[in-house]
Amino acid sequence: MIQLEVRHVECSVAAPPSRLPGLDRAVNPYRGCAHSCAYCYAQDVTRFETDRPWGDVVEAKVNIARRLKHELSRDAKGVYGIGTVTDPYQPLEEKLELTRSCLALLRRFGARASVLTKSDLVLRDIDLMRDWPGVEVGMSIACADDATAAVVEPHAPPPTNRFGALARLSAAGVDVYLMAAPIIPSLSGSRDQLESLVDAAHGSGVRRIIWDMWSPKPIASLRLREALDGVVAELAELAGSSRGARSSAEAVLASVCSDRGIQLVSAF
Ligand code: SF4
Repeated sequence: MIQLEVRHVECSVAAPPSRLPGLDRAVNPYRGCAHSCAYCYAQDVTRFETDRPWGDVVEAKVNIARRLKHELSRDAKGVYGIGTVTDPYQPLEEKLELTRSCLALLRRFGARASVLTKSDLVLRDIDLMRDWPGVEVGMSIACADDATAAVVEPHAPPPTNRFGALARLSAAGVDVYLMAAPIIPSLSGSRDQLESLVDAAHGSGVRRIIWDMWSPKPIASLRLREALDGVVAELAELAGSSRGARSSAEAVLASVCSDRGIQLVSAF
C-alpha cells in the first residue's frame, strides 16, 4: 500500500499556454498522480520527484481556482485542457475539489473545456457538464479487460467503471471520446483486444476514438519493465516502438472503427 505524501502548494499561473493539438491552455490542478500507472510519461516529461516512486508524492495547487478566475476575467477564449499532464480526477480530487472548482469557473465564464481522465470520479461533476456545449470528456482506456489493465494501472479505477462513466456521460448529452492509449502491443495490442476495446467504447456511446501506441521513455521504461516482469515474454517497450506494431494496430483499429461508424484519430 502506497503511503501518499500530499503537499499543498500555490501556483502563479493557473492556465499556461498548451502546445497540444486542439488545446490553447492547460489546467493541471495536481502535480504527480496517485494512479501511478507503470507506463506513465509524466515523470519523464516533468522531472517531478524522479528519485521517488511515481505516485508517492502529489502536489495540490490549492489556489488554482482563485488564479484561474483572475485569468478568465481577462480572457476566456480558446479551449482549456483539463488534465494534460496528470489526472484531474485522481483520488485527492474527491476531497479537494480543485478540478470541480476550475470547471465551474470555466462554465461560468463561457469558456470551452476538454477534460481527460482515467477515473469515474468525473461523474460527480456531471451536473456541471450537462447542458454545457463547450465541454468534452475524454476517458483514457487502453485495454477493455480489468485484470489485464490492473497489471499496469494498479491504482486507477478498472476499465469497467470507466466505460460505465462514458455511458452515463453520453446519455446525459455530454460530448465524449475514448483515448485509446497507450496501446502496449504485448499486453493489449492483439486483434481480439483491440476489437473488444472498440466494441466496449461503442456500447458506451463513444463515436470518436483518439489512439496512440506506447513509446519508450527512460523512467517509464524501467517502471513498465518491472510491472510486466513475468507477465509477458517480450519487452513491451521494444515491441511498442516498432513501426510494424504501430501499423498493424492502426489497421485493426481503422477496420473495426469503420465497421462500427466510429471516427478514428491518431493522437499525434
Ligand atoms: S492516470 Fe495518467 S497521469 Fe496518472 S499515472 Fe496514469 S497515465 Fe499518469
